Amino acid sequence: MSVLLPADPKANFLAHAAEIRDAIERVLVSGHYILGPEVEAFEAEFAAYQGGGYVISVANGTEALEIALRALGVRAGDRVATVANTVTATVSAIEQIGAYPVFVEIDPATMLMDPAALDRICARDSVKAVIPVHLYGQMADVEAIVSIADRYGAQVVEDCAQAHGARYGNCLAGTVGAVSAFSFYPTKNLGALGDGGAVFTSSKELAERVRMLRQYGWRTRYVAEIPGRNSRLDELQAAILRVKLNYLDQENARRRDLAALYLRKLASTRLQLPHVAAKAVPVYHQFSVRTPGREALKAYLQMHGIVTGVLYPVPVYRQAAYASAGLILPETERSCAEVLCLPCHPGLTEGDIDRICEAILGWKSPV
Ligand SMILES: *Cc1c(COP(=O)(O)O)cnc(C)c1O
Repeated sequence: MSVLLPADPKANFLAHAAEIRDAIERVLVSGHYILGPEVEAFEAEFAAYQGGGYVISVANGTEALEIALRALGVRAGDRVATVANTVTATVSAIEQIGAYPVFVEIDPATMLMDPAALDRICARDSVKAVIPVHLYGQMADVEAIVSIADRYGAQVVEDCAQAHGARYGNCLAGTVGAVSAFSFYPTKNLGALGDGGAVFTSSKELAERVRMLRQYGWRTRYVAEIPGRNSRLDELQAAILRVKLNYLDQENARRRDLAALYLRKLASTRLQLPHVAAKAVPVYHQFSVRTPGREALKAYLQMHGIVTGVLYPVPVYRQAAYASAGLILPETERSCAEVLCLPCHPGLTEGDIDRICEAILGWKSPV
């Protein structure tokens, strides 16, 4: 019996191995290894995928967030609102600037930023930027979030690390806020075979600032106009991403099909299944269920050769690096205590999902 993994970047490589090997060979013999023709082509192709605008590739998703914030003018001492049921990377991007995270409660159904809670925070604190996280591949209500942010003079940076190709109404993830950040970590829906990230914006001015920030503050070679840094995507990863981008929609559709199967087969269980907002078209970076018996279910599935993920077990404000004394967001706490992510990636078969669902149907919930 094979072990089923929550994500399987090797299977995804093997699915496209011949094309990826060709792409790597092309780079090896090209003589260009950093910010060359592959990066340029990938940026253009991903921008076209986003429906136009500018893609500026960077070294990883965390730096994409940080550079996006810096491009908007976020500085040390500013407040940036985000959620606490996210990977700590979201918050580390804020802290790298010396800005302060302000944690917003989530909607209990979708587990995404609650616009009403954001409104209360903006009314109380002066917030310079807002980072909604499109968790598990479902977009937050980013139109509502942008309209609230606008009222308080804050800018929105979408964290799209889990949401390449997700939609909300007619809007593609990353196209609603002033700027957005993507990660190409190998397990993401669009994953490199190493680190990678990108900033997307439809503003030419912001794109120029991001481009300067990613490479030493240069507009012209060797002339630093602003304090910059090095956060570049290399040619090998760009060439690999160009292959993977061609399959993104197909693989997202596959994830949706697998999710539909889960939803049908688990409907009779006591697990709380993912709630998809009326206008949302998710890309199921994760298929998350909720149960107060999370730890027991995780151990039980592990015994059946099914490895699950807990994204994320501890709210960021409770972690040593980012502890916010006294803060408790009840819905965030509950979701972190209950959530369990079942294997959901394009390398799985319907038979795999059947096997997982049958195991779950045989589980006696302790609560
Ligand atoms: C993966 C991820 C990041 C960070 O991306 P890296 O490329 O690992 O730096 C940020 N936010 C979210 C929601 C993520 O899932």
